Amino acid sequence: KSKERPGTSFHFFSEEMDIRSYESIKLENDLYRAIEKEELFIHYQPQIDYRNNEIVGVEALLRWKHPEYGLIPPDRFIPLAEETGLIVQIGDWVLRRACQQLKKWHDEGFALPRLSVNLSVHQFEQTDLFGSIKKILNETGLDPSFLELELTENLIVKNTELTLETMKQLKEYGIKIAIDDFGTGYSSLGYLRNLPISKLKIDKSFVDQMLVDDAAITNTIITLAKNLNLEVIAEGVETKEQADYLLEQDCVLMQGYYFSRPLDAETLTNKYV
Ligand code: C2E
Ligand code: MG
Ligand code: MG
Ligand code: MG
Repeated sequence: KSKERPGTSFHFFSEEMDIRSYESIKLENDLYRAIEKEELFIHYQPQIDYRNNEIVGVEALLRWKHPEYGLIPPDRFIPLAEETGLIVQIGDWVLRRACQQLKKWHDEGFALPRLSVNLSVHQFEQTDLFGSIKKILNETGLDPSFLELELTENLIVKNTELTLETMKQLKEYGIKIAIDDFGTGYSSLGYLRNLPISKLKIDKSFVDQMLVDDAAITNTIITLAKNLNLEVIAEGVETKEQADYLLEQDCVLMQGYYFSRPLDAETLTNKYV
């Protein structure tokens, strides 16, 4: 069946590829300049303790305003940054900027206890990650205990001596580590016990499914976290029904549009301070 009109489909496919790679190459080139041209910025999404509705942290989420294409979602440009190795520089920038912002909030009397920053696997592989983070914390004057790093499961799957060693150093220094999008990767549960992590973040897809389909996965992750003595937070909470259900199951930390979208620092300050 795949033999019919091979010429046509090949031609079509190849054209598609050309367009995509042209776009990607252009974006890649533009991304190199994005930091210095100040096109990158960070939005902060509140993390809530639903028992008292208090904000207990924020997640830093990177944004890129491209001069021609407008806002490009991180899911589109982070992979490019990873391919080119630029993620190391960008990741450093995000960490520094976000730590500066939390320090500023603290100095202004807004005692926000936690800043979560997403890290790419490549940042572990390509640099002296612990060294750069220590440097950033020293320079910004932020205490390490306020910082939490969000890692995805593919880091654990690709777990090498080096990444585990770095994770241990970070933990000893007082930095927390959370597993992001938990349940969507291919890590084996056996690993969890030996990892220096402090929190599981339930992926949005399971929260979506929870009251529509069934709640088996979310309930299992909440129980797993409890048994392993880990904190647990649900991401992508969009309704009061979801929030109420999660609280009933003893998952008190939540993040999602029901509480707030990611906001720029100023809007967040006006809303919560
Ligand atoms: P993530 O870390 O899992 O972040 C959660 C994503 O879900 C964010 O998308 C957030 O805006 C979105 N979200 C939060 N609550 C809700 C909700 O209630 N409903 C819906 N529909 N969406 C919700 P965003 O900002 O587009 O980021 C996408 C992904 O890009 C992130 O997923 C993260 O993996 C990556 N990313 C973002 N910033 C950085 C960064 O600085 N470094 C790295 N390495 N990756 C980043
Ligand atoms: Mg995250
Ligand atoms: Mg996530
Ligand atoms: Mg997710």
